[in-house]
Amino acid sequence: MIAATEAQAELTIDLAALSDNWRSLAARIAPATCAAVVKADAYGLGADEVARALFEAGCRVFFVAQPSEGARLRAVVGADAAIYVLNGLIAGEGRLDPYGAHHLRPVLCSMDDVRLWSASGLAGSIAAALHVDTGMNRLGLPPAEALGLAGQDAVLGLDLVMSHFVSSEAPLDPLNAQQIARFAALRAAFPGLRASLANSSGLFLPQRPFLDLARPGYALYGGNPTPGAPNPMRAVLSLRAPVIQTREIGVGESVGYNGQWHARRPTRLATIGVGYADGMPRSLMGTDARMGGEVLIEGVRCPFVGRVSMDLTVIDVTDAPGVRPGTMAELLGSTIMVDDVAARAGTIGYEILTNLGRRYARSYRN
Ligand SMILES: *Cc1c(COP(=O)(O)O)cnc(C)c1O
Repeated sequence: MIAATEAQAELTIDLAALSDNWRSLAARIAPATCAAVVKADAYGLGADEVARALFEAGCRVFFVAQPSEGARLRAVVGADAAIYVLNGLIAGEGRLDPYGAHHLRPVLCSMDDVRLWSASGLAGSIAAALHVDTGMNRLGLPPAEALGLAGQDAVLGLDLVMSHFVSSEAPLDPLNAQQIARFAALRAAFPGLRASLANSSGLFLPQRPFLDLARPGYALYGGNPTPGAPNPMRAVLSLRAPVIQTREIGVGESVGYNGQWHARRPTRLATIGVGYADGMPRSLMGTDARMGGEVLIEGVRCPFVGRVSMDLTVIDVTDAPGVRPGTMAELLGSTIMVDDVAARAGTIGYEILTNLGRRYARSYRN
């Protein structure tokens, strides 16, 4: 971790807002259980701190993608939490060791996984989940194969049957209803198991497919699970960087590599020390043809101008005349929201979060 004094930019993670987000989702779906998905270092926010805060808020079920993430998480949450590993077993020498050593519950994703698990000797002592693919065609058993395992849940030590939405952030997509119906049929074949279908956006579908257990990730971290409607979640992240220097340029002068933006008025510029190496997408460049990213500085939204460089970005601060070297600019927060940044960059907020840079001075509040 980088000390605040040597870093240019500050990334603050509000653990009280995170916990509030978990509690509000848990209340929304009660009496169903609310888990937390903390894969990929809790979407870049820091899995240790995030999991500790969520555990304190009452979360006892966690999902990670990989066994190594699960092993690390076990040391944080202790023996009382269930940890499921989403990516399934990958055949090979020693691949099952972390499941036994750290009491991780595998999410079985194929008949190969099922065979490997039942031959492992762990199936009696560690619970497992069965992932059925109801439309994604990515991970999970096809429904027909899964139905063939009905009645064997005890032998396999299964305690959960799950599937994953293709388009839950688009409530009008007919695939949602199709997947809900397919999963209902599967669930009926495994009456002894808990069932889980919904991710963050799934928790906001009109069908309320909460079942026994929900698996939100993105919404916990402040992402908007209802794109196009106001964000019901609290902002968790704040990314701020100081202005390094300011300058004035005349009409017609360009800014940045390859001169992609030209001043149409006498312009005051501010340079900040965050670039694409810090996860600020290069696609946020502001050119003569299109608007790019924005920062909030002195209460004014100011646009990125020219190309985003590796370590630097230039902002047009003509409309915020008080800006000086040292003035802080908000790059992400409750005004410059992660979903908006992502839309301007042509990506999704998930990618913005998981690319958050390593050079920021990170601090955890509350
Ligand atoms: C990542 C993931 C989730 C969490 O999805 P969000 O959209 O971040 O809430 C849930 N289930 C599975 C299988 C996942 O891979």
